[in-house]
Amino acid sequence: TTAIITIDGPAGTGKSSVSRRLADRVGARYLDTGAMYRVATLAALRAGADVAVQQEIIDTVAAVAMTLSNDPSSHAVTLAGEDVSDEIRTDAVTQAVSAVSAVKAVREKMVALQRELVAGEFAVVEGRDIGTVVFPDATLKIYLTATAEARAQRRHDQNLAQGRTSDLAAVLADVQRRDHLDSTREHSPLRPADDAVQVDTSNLDIDQVIDRLAELSNQ
Ligand code: C5P
Repeated sequence: TTAIITIDGPAGTGKSSVSRRLADRVGARYLDTGAMYRVATLAALRAGADVAVQQEIIDTVAAVAMTLSNDPSSHAVTLAGEDVSDEIRTDAVTQAVSAVSAVKAVREKMVALQRELVAGEFAVVEGRDIGTVVFPDATLKIYLTATAEARAQRRHDQNLAQGRTSDLAAVLADVQRRDHLDSTREHSPLRPADDAVQVDTSNLDIDQVIDRLAELSNQ
């Protein structure tokens, strides 16, 4: 039998690490849908599309050939056969991804691919609209939240740990900018599903969050 666990919420809640580790713990497949919007964005940027022009985005994304692993221990992501797992995390992609993912035709293509990638599987699927749009009948829906300050602080610490320069105020501004774009867009805005369990991670470490979700998935 198929059982999908959806994990939605804004950036910086610890969603990706939590989702991967939960999938590993409960023996499920795993899908990072944000990575898919990032690949689409990279393809648009590489094609020289102006991301302010919807039709240019639609034309390039229609032709995108991407592959993703649904193994929770794999970060493998390819675009036209090339490994782009690092490049999709660059600032250029992060800056443009909200504009690309706001386009209806892009979302339709990604949603169809997301359903295909975990068809018939027990899977943890993370993103922004998984419980509301992609898998509205999921067995368990989680919505992770945290204050913008707590989320910016995590991003900032991560940047420093990875040897990047980082300015906390600039990181906070970027977190707030993306929250605003993602939650006010016309198509599939970021919001909790009516039947989602909300978990505030502001004052929890990753192990505490995973324990809580594992407990919910056993109920
Ligand atoms: O999760 P991540 O930060 O990698 O997602 C990047 C961007 O992709 C988000 O800011 C959002 O604009 C978009 N996204 C989306 N729907 C999803 C997952 C991600 O619109 N299901």
